[in-house]
Amino acid sequence: MTDRRTELAENLARVEERISSACAAAGRERDDVTLIVVTKTYPASDVRLLAELGVRHVAENRDQDAAPKAAECADLPLNWHFVGQLQTNKVRSVLGYADVVHSVDRMRLVTALSTAAVRAGREVDCLIQVALDAESGARGERGGVAPDGVPELADALAAAEGLRPAGLMTVAPLAGPYAGRTRAAFDRLMEISTGLRAAHPAANMVSAGMSADLDDAVAAGATHVRVGSAVLGVRPRLG
Ligand SMILES: *Cc1c(COP(=O)(O)O)cnc(C)c1O
Repeated sequence: MTDRRTELAENLARVEERISSACAAAGRERDDVTLIVVTKTYPASDVRLLAELGVRHVAENRDQDAAPKAAECADLPLNWHFVGQLQTNKVRSVLGYADVVHSVDRMRLVTALSTAAVRAGREVDCLIQVALDAESGARGERGGVAPDGVPELADALAAAEGLRPAGLMTVAPLAGPYAGRTRAAFDRLMEISTGLRAAHPAANMVSAGMSADLDDAVAAGATHVRVGSAVLGVRPRLG
């Protein structure tokens, strides 16, 4: 049996190879893409091993699990990303450890995040989560705002004290016109990003691509990929 550290090192090397190949194929610099390892459902001991192996960005999607894990790992040189659907009553806790919030999808969340950021004396980078399968003016089942809701949220983030509009995030949709068309979905996200950057030039992060589709995301132009199972293994339960 190989030990956990070796297993993680091998998985990381495979993911690194995929990112490098996709960058090379797209004529992009490897440094243009940041790997975020999604550690949800896995223990703090894995986060510690990942940090030893050179990982600098980790992500979580449930505050109940993330808050104690981040506290256990507070001594590590890590940036924490929050990528799950976010309830307003969890915002204060999330801002206790998260450097970047990827899942801003409604005005009430902007207000709550701003209040918590000001209270904590922080400037927080916020990504708007786009639901490419949501109807105009609506939100997606798994979170995210319809593409036509992006400008209003971006303006609100820019105006909110303690927050910065940093870019966009999406999860490839399982339903709607982009179901099964991952590359087309990520191309659409890049188009929305171009529109966003016209109004907010610094909002240039594009968080897209997971274990199954990170290659398509890098090809489309993603700046951040969020990879869980390809590094840590298939999760024991839905998370
Ligand atoms: C779990 C999760 C990921 C990682 O998914 P894998 O398929 O395990 O790579 C990425 N983004 C979000 C929002 C997630 O919840």
